[in-house]
Amino acid sequence: MRIDLHTHTTASDGTDTPAELMAAAAAAQLDVVAITDHDTTAGWEPALAARPSGLTVVPGAEFSCYQRTADGRRISLHVLGYLFDPDAGALRAERLRLRESRLARARRIVENLAADGYAVSWPQVVDLAAGGSVGRPHIGRALVAAGAVPDVSTAFAELLSSRHKYFVPKQDTPVLDAVRMIRAARGLPVFAHPFARRRGPVVDDAVVAAMTDAGLVGIEVDHPDHGPDDRADAARLARRLGLVPLGSSDYHGTNKPTVLGACTTSPEALARLLEIPAARTPVAS
Ligand code: AMP
Ligand code: FE
Ligand code: FE
Ligand code: ZN
Repeated sequence: MRIDLHTHTTASDGTDTPAELMAAAAAAQLDVVAITDHDTTAGWEPALAARPSGLTVVPGAEFSCYQRTADGRRISLHVLGYLFDPDAGALRAERLRLRESRLARARRIVENLAADGYAVSWPQVVDLAAGGSVGRPHIGRALVAAGAVPDVSTAFAELLSSRHKYFVPKQDTPVLDAVRMIRAARGLPVFAHPFARRRGPVVDDAVVAAMTDAGLVGIEVDHPDHGPDDRADAARLARRLGLVPLGSSDYHGTNKPTVLGACTTSPEALARLLEIPAARTPVAS
């Protein structure tokens, strides 16, 4: 069984349409794939409509969150939610708010770049996002088109990360609120890439414990942005806090070098996850 529980499509910052993701999952010989676009469920319907027989699909989303440190620094972190009710009011309203916040901040990042002479424009980035949740990878694609960088990864390394002067933060959700909202929508909250240090500072164990108290059920252990030490730390936390340890590729099509199924979840872990009551069940033949 090959199980990949974290992927993106054109509904957010991936480059495969939801239907193309289904075909790519079959080609990668996955048995189970989750669709987890940033702050939206827009990919669920087209993905499920295109699901090949033999492939099980887990509908989900990835929520942009933050946590403040004792000294007031703001740490960004991502929480996956699986199998929640897409019509649950508070979470639905929060997704809309997050998507709108993405628009305003992406526009400001584009303006910052343009003011410094980069040949990128807001209408071009809106076009690239094609109605999906707008993210920095779309700005990265505009920078590639402008000839400023060879690829999206270089755009992040040189211009788009939170360490660069063009960066503008989004109005994300306080992480404990996000975990509670996902549970209130009868979904399964999972801490995504907890130790992806390349993206910025990471939270300490006490925050993960607080997230667990708020209803967190799982944590990504195997993830392309985790080194061997990070995986060992995450596995230790999972054991200590009773969280289900997951592995996922965080596939983004050609916006990132990672291939589908680059990291996977064990059948035992998926079974543990699915024992927890949720609003929906995975869609299988
Ligand atoms: P945003 O949601 O607009 O803040 O952008 C964050 C997204 O950018 C993540 O979900 C990844 O898809 C992508 N990303 C973050 N860091 C990198 C990187 N170093 N290279 C390529 N893509 C990245
Ligand atoms: Fe992304
Ligand atoms: Fe993420
Ligand atoms: Zn992701």
